Amino acid sequence: MFKAVYLEKPADRVEARIAELDDAALPEGEVTVRVAHSTLNYKDGLAITGKAPVVRRYPMVPGIDFAGTVEASSDPRWQPGDVVILNGWGVGEAYWGGLAQKARVRGDWLIALPAAFGTAQAMAIGTAGYTAMLCVQALERAGVTPAQGDVLVTGAAGGVGSVAIALLARRGYRVLAATGRTAEADYLQALGAAEIVDRAELAVAGKPLMKERWAGAVDTVGSHTLANVCAGTRYGGTVAACGLAGGMDFPATVAPFILRGVTLAGIDSVMAPRPRREAAWAALAAELDLERLAAMTREIGLAEAIPAAAELLAGRVRGRLVVDVDR
Ligand code: NAP
Repeated sequence: MFKAVYLEKPADRVEARIAELDDAALPEGEVTVRVAHSTLNYKDGLAITGKAPVVRRYPMVPGIDFAGTVEASSDPRWQPGDVVILNGWGVGEAYWGGLAQKARVRGDWLIALPAAFGTAQAMAIGTAGYTAMLCVQALERAGVTPAQGDVLVTGAAGGVGSVAIALLARRGYRVLAATGRTAEADYLQALGAAEIVDRAELAVAGKPLMKERWAGAVDTVGSHTLANVCAGTRYGGTVAACGLAGGMDFPATVAPFILRGVTLAGIDSVMAPRPRREAAWAALAAELDLERLAAMTREIGLAEAIPAAAELLAGRVRGRLVVDVDR
């Protein structure tokens, strides 16, 4: 038997509870993992509250991330005792996920836990942190260097935003942090932000082109914010767009792209190919300051993940939440 967050949809609303499940209930898959830690990302918040249709079948065990130890494997690449992590691939959406003491998945979806991290640290990073690194690497590939100017991070006090600030500051960028929580200025500066921008400035319809303020950006918000971020990007700059915390629409003009040569780089972590994942995790292992990671992380137990989901969507969670599935 194992414990899991369990989602059912008996009528038109999602019900979430902690269930005791039999191992025989686990789905088919090559590798059974004894999960040690999971985490709560924005998408897990959507799944648990049912606020957006991210779950494709019920009953579902949510959790797009997990870290744990292989218990049994018919995949020759994985042996009992191997410590592994999983991010995405539709786990926690179409396949049972990581907010549980056990998971069974395809061997293809796993990567080895980098030696630099324990399972709790890997989940403090989670999809949010791995996506932050995908964004940073997209800016790097596009040729955005610290010498070219500032880099803006939106949704700064959230999970992706907090990790992105720490990573960019460590690479020598001067980081502008756009947040609705200006009271968190000290927290954001401790992560490496040089300046705080009030997110209200970016949240309303702006002009097609605005003052050139940043050479690059990591946007987790979407909607008017993303449009304004593009409009304020310097000539030849790049915006890595990964989120929709402010909306899925994109009410923009082509002006920044055709008049300033701005590049909009789309970032997807869920189906990102294995080499790109491994490169992102290797870079996280080499670059992420573990003290800064600890400063942005709070640990909760499995049952606490259910009420925390609504808190996260309400923008009241700072940084990252790690879930100890045995607590
Ligand atoms: P999170 O921890 O909840 O952070 C989201 C942050 O966005 C909040 O902390 C808040 O930051 C800001 N925000 C929330 N509502 C807003 C609004 N209405 N207008 C403007 N800003 C708002 O979530 P996360 O896990 O970091 O994820 C952030 C976004 O990235 C989500 O949309 C998520 O789906 C997306 N994401 C995408 C991928 C991918 O593969 N593309 C992977 C991971 C995450 P402040 O309080 O600082 O303003």
